[in-house]
Amino acid sequence: MQTTAVVIGAGHAGLAMSRRLTERSIDHVVLERGEVANSWRTQRWPSLRLLTPNWQTRLPGHDYAGGDPDGYMPAAEVAATLTRYARLIGAPVRADTTVRTVRAVPQGFEIHADDDVLYARTVVLATGACNLPAIPAVAAAVPRSITTLTPFTYRDPGQLPDGGVLVVGASATGVQLADQIHRSGRPVTLAAGEHVRLPRAYRGRDIFWWLEATGLLAERYDQIDDLTRARHLPSPQLTGAPGITFSDLNALTAQGVRIVGRLGRVADGVAQFSGSLRNTCVLADLKMNRFLNRADEWATASGLDDELPPPHRFAPTRVDPRTPLELDLTTGEIGTVLWATGFRPDHSWLDLPVRDRAGHIRHEGGVVTGAAGAYVLGLPVLRTRASSYIHGSDADSAALADHLHSFLGSRPR
Ligand SMILES: Cc1cc2nc3c(=O)[nH]c(=O)nc-3n(C[C@H](O)[C@H](O)[C@H](O)COP(=O)(O)OP(=O)(O)OC[C@H]3O[C@@H](n4cnc5c(N)ncnc54)[C@H](O)[C@@H]3O)c2cc1C
Repeated sequence: MQTTAVVIGAGHAGLAMSRRLTERSIDHVVLERGEVANSWRTQRWPSLRLLTPNWQTRLPGHDYAGGDPDGYMPAAEVAATLTRYARLIGAPVRADTTVRTVRAVPQGFEIHADDDVLYARTVVLATGACNLPAIPAVAAAVPRSITTLTPFTYRDPGQLPDGGVLVVGASATGVQLADQIHRSGRPVTLAAGEHVRLPRAYRGRDIFWWLEATGLLAERYDQIDDLTRARHLPSPQLTGAPGITFSDLNALTAQGVRIVGRLGRVADGVAQFSGSLRNTCVLADLKMNRFLNRADEWATASGLDDELPPPHRFAPTRVDPRTPLELDLTTGEIGTVLWATGFRPDHSWLDLPVRDRAGHIRHEGGVVTGAAGAYVLGLPVLRTRASSYIHGSDADSAALADHLHSFLGSRPR
């Protein structure tokens, strides 16, 4: 089969691109190994809710129109929303079609998808940033008697064996799962490394309203000092569960979760935690307050001080001076280790010279370096800080579709 563009992946990013290509009358096909929104159906734990508010779930030509704009969608509703969107835009999705290889050929790209071979002048990689759980090397030293889970294999606390749970990682996933497991009645220890502390709401508005209003999410990739760091920043300690105002370490401590430092090593069955938990927390508090200062300055400059409740600050993170530095994993106290240590993309099927030594795709705001006509979408801080979220694909897909359109115009068929 020959087409102008092949989009790989029918998550929100691939669908947004499909809509942009249709707008520009560029014929294309979207290849998807599962169904539309496959990640939300098969790779998320059932109780997960978006941490971005519903009103922010915007896609090209589509705003949230449900009855709960300030709520947070459960994963199943995200899947249903994307499925409706795919229908609405008439996305030419070929489901149950796994791309096995993409390679460059003189006329563009040769794409092997299951038993089929497609030829396209351009290719858009929209296969997601979170295809695999990122598990640190230290996992290999965890005793075999311990059950280990990742956010891909975790469903609910009912599946856990007896004993306490060590959750490793205190970003959005870690704090949400530590909270849920602890509420089910199990002792939970949370190993917290570098993290991003934010309140759910500030001065009466959702924190994502502030992140957007102050222009922080609109910061462009080429204006960010340390782009590599920005692209690897942990997700903020937030949850969309109803009624939860803070999902930070203070909230978990108050609930009875034991907080320890970053897991550094496991030696002879003993987990060793960093002693720098206090410093890590001071830094997270500092960064949160720096953002709240920015929010207050913006509110004043925008003349909103009379409309909004007054500025205030939150209590610093409390760190128990007796925080243990070790935990023996061989005593039966801990039955499960849950790796909430992030996610990584899987582009192992790409046969193009476009990856750096760390395996990341080299690109300039989504225009892939080293393979003219190839684009990537849906990666953190791809073009702006908003690119890490669903609504970021609105502007990203428009910019990349424009580039792709010009590219087609500049090349003879
Ligand atoms: C736990 C978690 C919580 C999140 N919470 C939020 C949130 O609250 N708000 C927000 O805005 N964002 C959130 N995100 C971030 C973001 O929305 C997701 O990373 C999003 O799924 C990325 O969208 P995508 O379309 O790029 O990729 P995906 O949704 O992962 O879609 C990629 C698609 O490509 C398909 N695919 C992969 N490889 C192949 C192949 N070889 N051949 C064919 N098809 C393939 C997959 O099946 C999948 O359907 C969250 C992410 C995670 C992991």
